[in-house]
Amino acid sequence: MTVTVPVALGERSYEVVIGTGLLPDAGSRLAPFFRRPRTLIVTDETVAALHLAALQSGLEAGGIRSEAIVVPAGEGSKSWPMLERVVEALLAHRVERDDLVIAFGGGVIGDLAGFAAAILRRGVGFIQIPTSLLAQVDSSVGGKTGINSPLGKNLIGAFHQPRHVLIDIDVLDTLSDREFLAGYGEVVKYGLLGDADFFDWLETEGPRLRDGDKSGRIEAVRRSVAAKAGIVSRDEKEHGERALLNLGHTFGHALEAATGYSDRLLHGEGVAIGMGLAFALSARLGLCAQETPSRVAAHFAAMGLRRSMADIPGELPDADGLIELMAQDKKVVGGVPAFILCRAIGDSFVNREVPPEAVRAVLAEALV
Ligand code: NAD
Repeated sequence: MTVTVPVALGERSYEVVIGTGLLPDAGSRLAPFFRRPRTLIVTDETVAALHLAALQSGLEAGGIRSEAIVVPAGEGSKSWPMLERVVEALLAHRVERDDLVIAFGGGVIGDLAGFAAAILRRGVGFIQIPTSLLAQVDSSVGGKTGINSPLGKNLIGAFHQPRHVLIDIDVLDTLSDREFLAGYGEVVKYGLLGDADFFDWLETEGPRLRDGDKSGRIEAVRRSVAAKAGIVSRDEKEHGERALLNLGHTFGHALEAATGYSDRLLHGEGVAIGMGLAFALSARLGLCAQETPSRVAAHFAAMGLRRSMADIPGELPDADGLIELMAQDKKVVGGVPAFILCRAIGDSFVNREVPPEAVRAVLAEALV
């Protein structure tokens, strides 16, 4: 069974195909996109060990020859040295302007390979085959690509839309529970930011998805991708509505920076904790009902997701230290951080005028 979500971006429009059993079928599904039947796959060591053979034989079955560039797993690969390695390898393999590169992995690989494709020969096309839940519901769609600078995360990059996104739900079977739940934080985000019915559905169906139900996972990924596709097609370059996708990120990025982008806190976990704080801030400012943050926290608890700062191992900076880290976020304009706040579950908006005392109070309360 497959479902297709269109991403409407004029001549750069593409489709996201979601289903099971898609890797063995990759060749016949992707052949129409190739001008000549050969490709380079960029992937990481973990995904390569688990799924590369299946992808390559699936491509071969459809007549597409492939070779792979394998980089170390983890955020550290979104770096200048790794970008150089990937770009030079693509050139050495004589990837031409009309060829397509395949990004096969989590968000790190999508961002790295997508950016390499964006700058190679002033832009070659690429296909996303995302393998983590986070990449399937978020990073593979929308065309943001890039790497990290020693001065901050995602500071170097380009908008470069993929030509196609192929999402095989089966590969999630090998994802650790912790990585699955981190990706689930981004799924919940779509409900919280703009679709109360989806959040209701997740409250009921979430545990079934976590336990491996395939049709539920397809539906959750479909609804997430459709939400993201809608926002991206209305505001590709983040001049307005796309900023809502940053719900939880202002707090989350500060926590990620405070934990050194390490295993202490995964990106999706930071977003989940950050969304809890965004709801607490909204309630403190009298924007949403006082009981709404508890409903969000109760769902995270039911799923076993990290949901509060107390769930982060080790020391954290105090409230002022975290506010300092927020000031370095890339969404800061004129030194003022943007917060995505909520009037209710499913009703969010951007606010650049949050009083710092309110942020400090929410953080101080969460840190005890
Ligand atoms: P990741 O790519 O590091 O993947 C997480 C871990 O899971 C890695 O160790 C990876 O090897 C492993 N993995 C991936 N698929 C697997 C599978 N099927 N089975 C077993 N292990 C598997 O990280 P991520 O959480 O996927 O993505 C986080 C990155 O995405 C961050 O760098 C973030 O900045 C970026 N991101 C980008 C966007 C965007 O719009 N471009 C959006 C959100 C996040």
